[in-house]
Amino acid sequence: MEGILSGVAGSILSAMRNTLGEGSFSLHEPRFQGNEQRYVQDCIVSTYVSSVGAYVDRFEKELAAYTGARRAVAMVNGTAALQVALKLAGVEANDEVIIPSLTFIGTANAVSYLGAIPHLADSDSSTLGLDHVALREWLKLNAECAGDSSRNRNTGRRLRAMVPVHIFGHPCNMEGLLAVARDFRLSMVEDAAESLGSFYQGQHTGTFGLLGTLSFNGNKIVTTGGGGAILTNDERLADQAKHLTTTAKRPHRWEYLHDRIGYNFRMPNLNAALGCAQLEQLNDFIASKRRLFSSYKRAFASVKGVSLLEEPPNCESNYWLSAVTLDERLAGLRDEVLRVTNDAGLMTRPAWKLMHHSEPYKKSPRAPLPVAESIAQRLINLPSSAGLA
Ligand SMILES: *Cc1c(COP(=O)(O)O)cnc(C)c1O
Repeated sequence: MEGILSGVAGSILSAMRNTLGEGSFSLHEPRFQGNEQRYVQDCIVSTYVSSVGAYVDRFEKELAAYTGARRAVAMVNGTAALQVALKLAGVEANDEVIIPSLTFIGTANAVSYLGAIPHLADSDSSTLGLDHVALREWLKLNAECAGDSSRNRNTGRRLRAMVPVHIFGHPCNMEGLLAVARDFRLSMVEDAAESLGSFYQGQHTGTFGLLGTLSFNGNKIVTTGGGGAILTNDERLADQAKHLTTTAKRPHRWEYLHDRIGYNFRMPNLNAALGCAQLEQLNDFIASKRRLFSSYKRAFASVKGVSLLEEPPNCESNYWLSAVTLDERLAGLRDEVLRVTNDAGLMTRPAWKLMHHSEPYKKSPRAPLPVAESIAQRLINLPSSAGLA
C-alpha cells in the first residue's frame, strides 16, 4: 500500500520509513530508563509524596546547575510558571504583553489569567520565534515609550512585557529581541517550555530575560508527569516566586500566617523525583534527538520541495520536535501529507492553530502576521521521541 503512493506525500512517507523503519510511531513519548522507579519508590516509602520533600529542592538545584540560572523554582506546570513569572515582571490587568501568534495556547492563557491582553507578533521563518526586525518596525509605528514601559498608541494600554518562545526547542534571536525590549522598555520573560537543553551563543535559553519558564509536561524533553519551573538570576524574584506559589505562607512552627493571596502552584515531591531521574538522562535524550534529526536530514535530502528545520547559527538546539516545511508552492498538500502519514501509523502534526485564529484570541491586538500564516500552512512535525535513533 505505502509502496504505490506517489508524489510529495509518498516521498515524505518513504523518507520517514527510511529513518524510522517499520511500525507505528507517536509524535513524542516519554522514556523512563534511568532511576525513575527508584526515586519515586523512595518518595512512597518515605511518605514524602506531596508538597514538601528533598526531591523538590534537589530538582531545583540541578535545574539551576544545568541551565546556569542562579535559581530555579519548581511549579505545578509550565503555564502556571509563566503566569507567575509575568506577574513578577510587573504585568497587571489591562497591560498588553507581546507574544508570537505561532505558539501553544498556554503562552497566551498565562497572560490572560492576569487580566492582561496578548498582543500578537510575527515569527521569523528561520527560528520560528519572534521576528525582532518586524517587531521593531511595528513598535516604531504603534508604540511610544512612556516612563518605565511603552504605550500602544491604538489601544492606549501599557505595553509591559514580551515573551519570546523557543519553538520546538530552537532558540529565538535573543540579541535582536533583547535590543527591542530595551528600546521599548519591555520586561523580557522567556517561554522556554520546549527548550530545556537549548543554548543561544552558549547560554541556556530561559536565562536571558528577567525570568524564564520551563515545562515538564508528558510530551516535553524531560517530564515530571506534569510540572514547570521558573528560572531567574535574581535571588529576590526567585524568593518571591517560591513564596507566591506556596500560598504565601510565612514560616512559623505552628501558626498559619499568609501575608498575601498566594497560589498553590508548588510541584509535589513525587513529580520532582521523576524529574531528578529524567534530568540525569537529558544529555542522552538530546544526543538521540540530534541523531534522529541527522537521520531525517539524510533521508529527506532527495525529497524535492521539502526542508527540515535546522538549529539557527550559533545555537545548540535540543531538537525537541523535528519539523519539515513544504515549499510555498506545495502548501496546499499539507493535509494530504498529514493524512497519508497518519494513515500509515506515523504520527505527524501541523503547527498549532495560530492564536489570532483561535476562538479566545481572535480579537487580540496584533501586528501583520504573514510569516506565521505561511509557516502554519506548511509546517509538519515528525515523530521525535528520544530513543528513536
Ligand atoms: C508545553 C508548553 C507550555 C505549557 O506547559 P504546561 O506544562 O503544559 O502547562 C507553554 N508554552 C509552550 C510553548 C509549550 O510548549
